[in-house]
Amino acid sequence: MKIIILSIFTFLSLFARDVAKGETTIYEFSKIPKDAVFKYQSKDIPLLPHPLHVNRKIAIVPINYRESLGDKKLIITYKNGSKTLPLHVSDGRYSFETISVAASKVKPDKKQRELISKEYKEAMRIYHRFTPISYINKPFTYPLNSKITSAFGTARMFNGSLKSFHSGTDFRAKKGTPVYATNSGVVAIAKRRYYAGNSVVIDHGEGIYSCYYHLSKLHVKVGDRVKQGDFLGLSGATGRVNGPHLHYAMMVQGVQVNPLQFHQVFNALFQK
Ligand SMILES: [Zn+2]
Repeated sequence: MKIIILSIFTFLSLFARDVAKGETTIYEFSKIPKDAVFKYQSKDIPLLPHPLHVNRKIAIVPINYRESLGDKKLIITYKNGSKTLPLHVSDGRYSFETISVAASKVKPDKKQRELISKEYKEAMRIYHRFTPISYINKPFTYPLNSKITSAFGTARMFNGSLKSFHSGTDFRAKKGTPVYATNSGVVAIAKRRYYAGNSVVIDHGEGIYSCYYHLSKLHVKVGDRVKQGDFLGLSGATGRVNGPHLHYAMMVQGVQVNPLQFHQVFNALFQK
């Protein structure tokens, strides 16, 4: 047993994984000491049940877009020792775009700034909430079938001044296009917000959230249990936008990650 544990760690620790900022990597373990504790850059990473295999565990490591680049460590400690798994954060080669929106969405007044700050704090409280069960029982699907018009991570300049980055993936969607849950969960946010407009956020459990923004109509309310493919609302152009589309985003352990890259690495767990 001990030899197996060692060999898995030895194998993982031989090669540094390369992960772009804003992306997620998932470690799989078939044997792991019960008392093992994971840390990435001094942040606790929960050890979770594998969605498919009862005797396996996974560790999901989301890399913040603002993370400094270079060599990092994932440290695993347990009663009889510790192991270090190397990880390399790269810049992701994201592109750059300039956008024009209403002046009030770039330079909000005092009252608007207070609202934005209140909404931000409320959302971050939710995203850091760790629901200790998973509602996910199948691979993630798309929120609608459409063309991607703006990828995650694009560096953005609003009205020639405000610098930001695109925190989700935009899908082409004319006003009134149905939007569906990409996996099962419980509705955690369903309301109008300053930047996101009419928003739905689904708690999938274990620190994983999916977000659907700028909707014209909401069809769910907070606390609703939703299944993958359930109708959430209609797309629109509410909030800080320059036209109708669906902004789809994901938060993992409080970190904003590339949602479609997260789909890819998480869905791969179902392929073995
Ligand atoms: Zn967007």
